[in-house]
Amino acid sequence: MNLSTGEIYFPNKIRYSVHISMKIICIGHNYSEHNKELFGGYEGDPVFFMKPDTALLRNNAPLYYPKFTQDLQYEVELVLKICRLGRGISEKFAHRYYDQIGVGVDFTARDIQRECKEKGLPWELCKAFDYSAPISSQLIPVEQIRDVNDIHFSLTRNGEIVQQGRSRDMIFSFDRIVAYVSQFVSLKIGDLIFTGTPSGVGPVAVGDVLVASIEGQEMLKTEIK
Ligand code: MG
Repeated sequence: MNLSTGEIYFPNKIRYSVHISMKIICIGHNYSEHNKELFGGYEGDPVFFMKPDTALLRNNAPLYYPKFTQDLQYEVELVLKICRLGRGISEKFAHRYYDQIGVGVDFTARDIQRECKEKGLPWELCKAFDYSAPISSQLIPVEQIRDVNDIHFSLTRNGEIVQQGRSRDMIFSFDRIVAYVSQFVSLKIGDLIFTGTPSGVGPVAVGDVLVASIEGQEMLKTEIK
């Protein structure tokens, strides 16, 4: 392998490019009020699923309403950025594995999710589609945050607050999430963890503008086209 170009040379001279990728891990059922609205008051271990890197939507780009759903819904979430390679991380040391926090939207095709749940099918169709994960361009370094366990965040739809939450209301803390997920899946530098949504999830329509904020500061804007 040529380390400077990231290319691998096989003996037969066929050249392959190595694409460095990241993954997006999303936590479900992490706010009790939201669990009541969607999951009949779920209590148990953290639930997680993944979105591919093609789900990322950056730089406040608009989201085009996907053709395969009639019920696209927003879920605003705090997002951790992983800064160290790790697996089987203990909760005590988990804080060393994320160094920035941003805000994102876990877009969900709710009609398809309902079907998946009824049939016991996996969630990729309703969660992992292209551009289903807008994230703030700016992430806040953890050391600049007064108390990571008490971050206020919110989402407005066309200027009206539709969701707000505080990280202290999470059932599973950031550290518990990192420890739990890393028992099953290695975390790599650049991976993102969406940490779950508070209550108030709801549908969007073409023309809507969503704005997500942390501590009242606008971080992410997404127009639905
Ligand atoms: Mg979510």
